[in-house]
Amino acid sequence: MPDKYNIVENETFVNPYNFIPLQQKCTKGLNYRTLKKEGTLTGWLNCELTTLTPVFVPNTTSVFEDHEGKKRSHVFPDAKDKDGNKINSYDFYSYTDLGNEQNPDFSKSPVIPGSEIRGVIRTAFEAVTNSCMSTIDKEKSLYKRTVKVGAPGILKNESGVWKIFPCKRIGIAKRPANNDSNNFSSKINSLKEGQKVYIKIGGTYRTRRHFPAFDFVGDIQDNKVSDEYIEGYFHAGEPFQRKHHESIFILKNCPEIKVEKKAVEELLENLKLYQDESVNLEYKKITHKGYKKIGNASDMSIMDLNDKLVYYSSCATKTGIKYYLSPAAIGREVFHNTLEDLIGLYNHQPCEKLDDLCPACALFGMTAKENSAASRVRFTDATCIDTPYFDDPVTLKELASPKISATEFYLKKKNNNHDMWNYDYAMNWNSLINGDPNYTPEIRGRKFYWHQKNPDYIETDEITERNVHVRPLKKANRFSFKVYFNNITTKELNTLIWILEIGGDKQQAHKLGMGKPIGLGSVRISVTDINIREMVKKDDTIEYKKKDNLPKDQYKNFGDLLINDMQLEQFKTITNFDQAPDNVSYPYVTNEDETFRWFVANKLKRENAMKPSISQELPGIDNALDKEKGLHPYRKVPND
Ligand SMILES: [Zn+2]
Repeated sequence: MPDKYNIVENETFVNPYNFIPLQQKCTKGLNYRTLKKEGTLTGWLNCELTTLTPVFVPNTTSVFEDHEGKKRSHVFPDAKDKDGNKINSYDFYSYTDLGNEQNPDFSKSPVIPGSEIRGVIRTAFEAVTNSCMSTIDKEKSLYKRTVKVGAPGILKNESGVWKIFPCKRIGIAKRPANNDSNNFSSKINSLKEGQKVYIKIGGTYRTRRHFPAFDFVGDIQDNKVSDEYIEGYFHAGEPFQRKHHESIFILKNCPEIKVEKKAVEELLENLKLYQDESVNLEYKKITHKGYKKIGNASDMSIMDLNDKLVYYSSCATKTGIKYYLSPAAIGREVFHNTLEDLIGLYNHQPCEKLDDLCPACALFGMTAKENSAASRVRFTDATCIDTPYFDDPVTLKELASPKISATEFYLKKKNNNHDMWNYDYAMNWNSLINGDPNYTPEIRGRKFYWHQKNPDYIETDEITERNVHVRPLKKANRFSFKVYFNNITTKELNTLIWILEIGGDKQQAHKLGMGKPIGLGSVRISVTDINIREMVKKDDTIEYKKKDNLPKDQYKNFGDLLINDMQLEQFKTITNFDQAPDNVSYPYVTNEDETFRWFVANKLKRENAMKPSISQELPGIDNALDKEKGLHPYRKVPND
């Protein structure tokens, strides 16, 4: 039986990240050349940065490759897991090359790289000026484990057209199970993927309540020994625990289905994902052969998928019926939509034209296929003003990688009727089992992390090889850095200062460096003075002369480019350090360890495990701190 979980009603938590929604239309249309001409301000800002929590930016010069080619860093040789094996450890970023020095001096001055500060400021600038999403990974494929059981079929390319010939699946026992006493394991081991065989049906396998019944093989031969034997093809599935049957596909007497070439390309991508160890988070503990029997996906072209056995499913979307192909019945779907398609809904794709730029690309620059705009701002590294105060080295909790398959966090629920929704389609098990034709997937927006006043480190007895050991800076360290600007407008300068200081309100702070989800990286920036250089023509040459420092008040008209609405309010809420929530946590099940269990629990429909339905979705920033509307953990009900 599937595990049972109950929601814990009297407990809430705040997920480490949330999203600032996108505005209905991205602000574009700025002309780079015009702005540069209008921009008369050249100079620099002196800035001071104060750490409000421990902060950590790694010095990666200590990284080396071990004999397996894995990246390692052992700056602190005593950093070990609970079994005594060395774990990766890093010191704070500095100009010291930790790889070359025999006895590196760890007390050398810590540095926060200018690129790190620039990245943080640009992301904030994009969010509050409704700019494009410049850092989106266009190539990334979107995928998710399927919820519907796929139907078996043979994929063929006939004169350039891809078709599926529907099949029926017959189980072939690897070991005796339930009412099937056969054991064909040695025969199965001799069969190649897709090999033609002749079988005799032995009976119908009685399954557990929620799984569909299937016929099983009573005998198998290489040749058609009598009329009782039917032609079929062998398919080896995912080797999961307790598995008792492999499959023989037999052709059904029904019309073939045409599928788009794109669906076949996605099947190849899907195979690559199966063969990528870093992808299978939920199943990484199970030995997984990654369907290598089908082939090594990275060496294959789509024509190599001709004549392969697959499972297919389909769903209605706004642009018609889409087919999904997978090597497994409950496999992984690679979606037709890409991240770029989704952010294109409101035109937030990265800018490409010099006369159609968003405010962020106009100021920070951009590189597109045919054009590029040079940045008009430059961030220097930040160096420590006083003697640096370090924390004792600590081991960080494992940092979960972003799980884009968690659509209940990344995508808006568009209709209360939807049990499941994803990057292509949404469905309801009763009324919209084949997809809601009116569904348009919509991402929640731009990702930001909540501040946390007390970082959450790990207990020594829980340390595994996946944890890293680091030496963070304590809170209350002060750094200074400069932001140089070149030919920018007053509007741009005002906005830049507003973003650096987040409105000059001392409650607000940025987050940078490593460990944002577990409470590291809160920093406050203030602009201490503004220096403008004046252009003076002297004979035939141009000279720059520094004007006196300008009082900041002259630029009090902060934020001319700011959007002035809900997005700005949400940005101020999530960047509010003084009112940081005290219950930030990765999603959890109270009596289990791994975060992914929460997502499993969140998809179980209590009465039927085969028809999962999402229970809780990520509340917006405005509701995330509300005890009523916040997220709840689950508790596993012990098996009796
Ligand atoms: Zn842009």
